[in-house]
Amino acid sequence: MPDKAKGKVFPVNLSGEVYLPIKSEAERKRIPVRDYITILLDHHIKKREFAEKAWPGLTIDAVDPKNPNHIILRDKNRNFFDIWLKDNQLRCQQDESTGCCHTSFIWLIGWPIAGLLSDGLTNLT
Ligand SMILES: [Zn+2]
Repeated sequence: MPDKAKGKVFPVNLSGEVYLPIKSEAERKRIPVRDYITILLDHHIKKREFAEKAWPGLTIDAVDPKNPNHIILRDKNRNFFDIWLKDNQLRCQQDESTGCCHTSFIWLIGWPIAGLLSDGLTNLT
């Protein structure tokens, strides 16, 4: 973001599907909705920045189109890692682990957003 844009306020349009639960959460926390949305988006940006520093080059390669519980990660050396969601646990097939850097990466960015990232809407690197 150009420095000139920092400190400015930008209007956004949210669907009711997104706005209403956010508004409800903001009201429970007694925070103005616009401030709460800014906090949430800032948190998202900081998580992405942390992921880029913690696991440089690690990206979502794809979500298995035949199985939404299977995400494929790719590292900077073009190694691929199959992450499976089963019984509310993430498991890395290559490391045979539920606690390796690949499962941690998915836990950090969140399983639902991982699908969006793999669609080319955003890339972590
Ligand atoms: Zn792994």
